[in-house]
Amino acid sequence: MSHFLAAVAAIVGAPHVLTQPQDTAPYTLDYRRRYQGLPLAVALPGTTAEVAALLQLCQLHQVAVVPQGGNTSTCGAATPDTSGRQLVIGLRRLNRLRAIDTANNSITVEAGMTLAQVQQLATAAGRLFPLSLASEGSCQIGGNLSTNAGGLAVLRYGTMRELTLGLEVVLPDGQVLHQLSALRKDTSGLDVKQLFIGAEGQLGLITAATLKLFPLPTAHATAWLGVDSSQAAIDLLSALRQAFGDRLTTFEIMSDACQHLLEKYHPGQLPFIQPWAVLAELSDSGDSHLLQQQLVDWLATQQIADGVLAHSEADRQQLWQLREAMSETQKRDGASIKHDIGVPSSAIPDFLQQCESALRRVFPTVRIIAFGHAGDGNLHYNISYTRPDNAHLFEDEDSVNAIVYDLVYRHQGTLAAEHGVGQLKGHWLQRYKDPLALQLMRNIKQVLDPHGLMNPGKWLSGGGD
Ligand SMILES: Cc1cc2nc3c(=O)[nH]c(=O)nc-3n(C[C@H](O)[C@H](O)[C@H](O)COP(=O)(O)OP(=O)(O)OC[C@H]3O[C@@H](n4cnc5c(N)ncnc54)[C@H](O)[C@@H]3O)c2cc1C
Repeated sequence: MSHFLAAVAAIVGAPHVLTQPQDTAPYTLDYRRRYQGLPLAVALPGTTAEVAALLQLCQLHQVAVVPQGGNTSTCGAATPDTSGRQLVIGLRRLNRLRAIDTANNSITVEAGMTLAQVQQLATAAGRLFPLSLASEGSCQIGGNLSTNAGGLAVLRYGTMRELTLGLEVVLPDGQVLHQLSALRKDTSGLDVKQLFIGAEGQLGLITAATLKLFPLPTAHATAWLGVDSSQAAIDLLSALRQAFGDRLTTFEIMSDACQHLLEKYHPGQLPFIQPWAVLAELSDSGDSHLLQQQLVDWLATQQIADGVLAHSEADRQQLWQLREAMSETQKRDGASIKHDIGVPSSAIPDFLQQCESALRRVFPTVRIIAFGHAGDGNLHYNISYTRPDNAHLFEDEDSVNAIVYDLVYRHQGTLAAEHGVGQLKGHWLQRYKDPLALQLMRNIKQVLDPHGLMNPGKWLSGGGD
């Protein structure tokens, strides 16, 4: 293998090949510390040509490759196995701006640029790149594409799949697919770039992307509202959409259990506690006061149990901080079995009611923390027990997951609406995904990566817990 590593160093430069445990450590442990790998080495290429040469070399020596961006996937998708034979390719040096075209509302960046950097470049040019995640300071565009990331504004702008115009991808044999088109319409055949979005690095390595930009909103109207049931929350979503159309940018919900947790760890910050809290935001061009007045007038015609409106940017940030504190607050309160499920928004009330009953029948002390992006149907649905039996929580993980996922699929949902599949959910995907769809995916894998060298051991090669 030293011959192989010398060839890797000849491609990327010796300082960009990491082999010592203290140097490779940040690349070997996944975000939730659930998966620990042992790589052959970590290579840090700085250009697409270097990535192509690396993949050619790996093909020649039959060395498996694990692409890694910001390593914020929470399901072990970017973690190598423990064989000591997989090469991690980290993309952080491939982080240049290639072009920005404000007249076409598009930006072309390399895959290792962080999401926050892309947002900043767009803002500096007077445009919006709307993908927004709590991990945006570290996650990279290549990782966002490979997990089809969504976030707080999917309701209005869609996920990475909708935000992408073109891609540059290095195929497992080292060929470069040049599809960095900035076109919005192209009817000349299949849209092959879509294959690589959501593929979790199992079909090729993305080196650059052309992404959509939007006008930068100048007006925001943000409200924290209380409603008495999840059905009332979904009715409110529907009514807001009807009244404000595309201007409804965010619609987040939090159950009363979430609000009690926030009150416990951030006392006095919540405006009130209601069975369900909604954080709704409108955005538009023009003046914030005007938009806020429109929202106030409209809310006055609705049956809302309680509500506060942000009157300043500081108020708005305060409401957002409450929503964003939810994950960290729950972490402080102890371990939980986490799910990032999705069901059609209209099915959320039924799903919640049926799933809670089914879980309580088997686990009477269950505590459910449900919150998230109800506007696009994506919920964090996290399970713990009331103490002291929480110590044994993970012994029941498979039984809990089976109850939750059975009901998710009964409601035409998905077991991975946000964090990808990775190693964590591989075997669940085999159980629930349409077998024909899975077979088609394996066929595509076989065509593009016949030697199975791209991120093996993950779901497309039948791997996973
Ligand atoms: C606090 C927190 C909040 C989060 N919030 C959200 C959220 O709201 N919405 C959401 O969708 N996700 C969210 N996530 C999950 C995560 O941030 C996203 O999945 C993100 O898109 C992963 O990007 P990354 O660069 O960290 O990818 P990594 O974790 O490094 O990799 C993820 C997958 O992509 C592959 N990959 C990475 N780069 C490339 C490339 N250039 N070419 C090919 N394959 C590649 C890897 O092999 C792996 O399979 C959150 C995570 C955290 C920790």
